Amino acid sequence: MLFYDFHIHSCLSPCADDDMTPGNIAGMGYIKGLGAMALTDHNSCKNCPAFFKACEKFGIVPIAGMELSSAEDVHLVCLFPTLEKAMAFDSELDSHRMPIDNRPDIFGNQIIMGENDEKLGDYERLLIASTDLWMGDAVELARSFGALVYPAHIDRSSNGIIAVLGGFPEEYRFDCIEMRDRSSYDSYCENHPQIKGLNLLVCSDAHSLGAISEPENALDIDPNVTEIDKIREQIFNYISKS
Ligand SMILES: [Zn+2]
Ligand SMILES: [Zn+2]
Repeated sequence: MLFYDFHIHSCLSPCADDDMTPGNIAGMGYIKGLGAMALTDHNSCKNCPAFFKACEKFGIVPIAGMELSSAEDVHLVCLFPTLEKAMAFDSELDSHRMPIDNRPDIFGNQIIMGENDEKLGDYERLLIASTDLWMGDAVELARSFGALVYPAHIDRSSNGIIAVLGGFPEEYRFDCIEMRDRSSYDSYCENHPQIKGLNLLVCSDAHSLGAISEPENALDIDPNVTEIDKIREQIFNYISKS
């Protein structure tokens, strides 16, 4: 079994703690016994290169991700098959982020980190504002970069797809849903039968080191596969298997 957490914010997200550096996140994942982690900052992948380096040191399978805010203000997790695809999508988003500058005194710092866990600079444009991409366009665009896209924290009232749209839409053909708490899964299935049969990921949405998942959520991955890229491939196959 491979313990995972695929929803984690680094110090690039203004709402996350400044000590959520890629090195600290990977180190905490290692201490907690996680085998695979995704970095999913708000509307940016710019700390993913440093995150990959950090995970390498701790033997953790890294996934380059993003928590994309649609124009409706629904949060979508995007997981990219490679770091290169993620960074290309990050550049593509330059024309879709709101032209509003961050106010660190109000929203918090947006720190870009380097491969040795050193600060490289601050990202200027506010990352927690929603993009100008409506859901359909957001999903299509991310998928065109090879991303697995699914709704984040559907059990949350703010930015969760069900709370924002008033129901679970089927037209985006999601393979997967993410929840923060497994215990309400049955009642969600009862009220929203559309999610029955979709894969469930339970992730922390950590904004602080202590909030990163304990080894509680696992994927059944072939233990004979040891190569990082191959394990990531298996994870993607698992998530996208309807
Ligand atoms: Zn969110
Ligand atoms: Zn989040």
